[in-house]
Amino acid sequence: MTMTNGALVLFSGGQDSTTCLAWALARYAKVETIGFDYGQRHAVELAVRPAILQKIRSLAPGWDDKLGEDHMIDLSLIGKISDTALTRDVEIAMQDNGLPNTFVPGRNLLFMMVAATLAYRRGLDVLVGGMCETDFSGYPDCRDDTMKALQVALNLGMATRLKVETPLMWIDKAQTWELARELGGAALIELIRAETHTCYLGERGDLHDWGYGCGKCPACELRANGYRIFSKTAAEAAS
Ligand code: ZN
Repeated sequence: MTMTNGALVLFSGGQDSTTCLAWALARYAKVETIGFDYGQRHAVELAVRPAILQKIRSLAPGWDDKLGEDHMIDLSLIGKISDTALTRDVEIAMQDNGLPNTFVPGRNLLFMMVAATLAYRRGLDVLVGGMCETDFSGYPDCRDDTMKALQVALNLGMATRLKVETPLMWIDKAQTWELARELGGAALIELIRAETHTCYLGERGDLHDWGYGCGKCPACELRANGYRIFSKTAAEAAS
């Protein structure tokens, strides 16, 4: 077990952050979670959080004791200062600068800064986020360099020794499913499949083999495609 005072996981209720939560529970003696309400078009993401937090407790011995408070933070100011397909009812499209309009400028920077401030108060010294360069290429605030620069800036600005951990940074979606399997076995896969939410459109009608979602938006496509590769690899390994 790593020697720290504990970790604060940026937990949105999606596949990635749920995997990060399991990763932190497997590693640290104390884990708390933080979630942000920024006026997401679909509140589904936030609605699924409590059930995941409850169910993950029984997935491995000790996780129930380790998992502490969940902190829900109102960041509705994001919707006020930015214009994005995640907070406004517009079509998901590519912008002239090569970024999709689901990009919320500075969102992860703000999330990390708020998380660091909370971690300071709670005496936690690790921040865990699901940022990833592999799949969501194009989101500049998901880049490894951005996170490393942010870690330096936060520590300079707050006179702390916070560590920013991004366990998904260099793995793709299939490997994220595989990481979940390693961390929590079939039970965690099922929890992620049935409880987490990734779909940009907030669709939660049908439960597919890869989980709920419209199946067509970029987030669903990544999730479904990753699951297909993961389950094919798992089936081949088993045969
Ligand atoms: Zn979708």
